[in-house]
Amino acid sequence: MNRLIERFLRYVAIDTQSQYGTGTFPSTEKQKNLGNLLVQELLEMGVSEAAMDEYGTVYASIPSNSGEDIPVIGFTAHMDTAPDLPGCNIKPRIIENYDGTDIVLNEEKNIIFSVEKFPRLKVYQGKDLIVGDGTTLLGADDKSGVAVIMELAATLTENPQILHGDVKLCFTCDEEIGNSTKYFDLEKFNCDFAYSMDGGELGEFYYDNFNCGIALVTVNGKVAHTGYAWHRMVNSMEVAMELHRLLDPLAVPAGTRDREGFTHLAELKGDVGATHMRYLVRDHEFSLFEKKKEDLRRIAEFLNGKYGGGTVVLEFEDVMYNMRDKILKMPFIIENVVKCMEELGIEPVIIPVRGGVDGAEITFKGLPCPNLFTGGDNCHTIYEYTCIQSMEQSYKLLVKLCESCLSVGQNQE
Ligand SMILES: [Zn+2]
Repeated sequence: MNRLIERFLRYVAIDTQSQYGTGTFPSTEKQKNLGNLLVQELLEMGVSEAAMDEYGTVYASIPSNSGEDIPVIGFTAHMDTAPDLPGCNIKPRIIENYDGTDIVLNEEKNIIFSVEKFPRLKVYQGKDLIVGDGTTLLGADDKSGVAVIMELAATLTENPQILHGDVKLCFTCDEEIGNSTKYFDLEKFNCDFAYSMDGGELGEFYYDNFNCGIALVTVNGKVAHTGYAWHRMVNSMEVAMELHRLLDPLAVPAGTRDREGFTHLAELKGDVGATHMRYLVRDHEFSLFEKKKEDLRRIAEFLNGKYGGGTVVLEFEDVMYNMRDKILKMPFIIENVVKCMEELGIEPVIIPVRGGVDGAEITFKGLPCPNLFTGGDNCHTIYEYTCIQSMEQSYKLLVKLCESCLSVGQNQE
């Protein structure tokens, strides 16, 4: 078995599940078990600048061997796995030369990974896959990202003939509970641009994510005895329904795709006196994102005119912005990836992400950080799998990207 896959199997064997609401960072102490192993492995490779900080984040640096002043490239991956499903006792199984038919994940429990349900599987006929036993996550999200970055580090330290600039590595905790960038230390990471290695099939390359916001709506009603409510009662639930009906009925998750945004009612609870609604507001275009919030404001104003000031109270919170515009300002970050992929015979698949991504948060902290594929799919489910050949291509792409910084440096002068 090749070393990259051995690495992957070693990392998925370590339970690093994160957990909501523990009040600590990292949320679970066990994530540090993987962090400690990575530091130890990096030190054994001869990467002397490798350490874990108090938050469990591992930073490492491989110094330049080119003798030239070229941009510093970085790579990140997250060490934790999602809290949705069991993350321990993972029993990975390698399926060599996959024949394109249903995969029995667990004979005893009759858990079948079927081609009918997952037609994407067909693409992998003839390739080697890694699957779980249908009772847990596999953890390819994001141990495959961790493995390709670690294999890159091993390759660079063993092969001084591969010329590169400074290469920075970072492994984070608590990504799956939305906290990985909370204590992310940009100064420590210290690079000019970076790539987040997190999921995606062969060739997938993301830098166009949703602008994400939350709108909290409180509707205040007027309570009265139902028998004597004439011209007195305002039923907050009725007003809430009126508000919802005034929104574009097609701008909902089930009515939109590609780069179409939505205003999604995620939560509703109330009684006559008060109703609380939580909307997720999302759009790739910033102007349309703002327009969706403005629509809510206008509706609130209209209803307040009708039922009295203070009936509808709105609160907005912007959670994340689309990194696209910031990434497009440094076009070589994209051009380089496309060029390196083409040299490796990988077709770039540049698609808008209908969600937020970690790289976007890092980008808005000031470090451009698009997301690159690592080969896995069906994350956060018992059908999670990864393709060995895609993972190998992901690793080769990283080596090429490090080498390509040499020409970026020359072009910029
Ligand atoms: Zn992930």
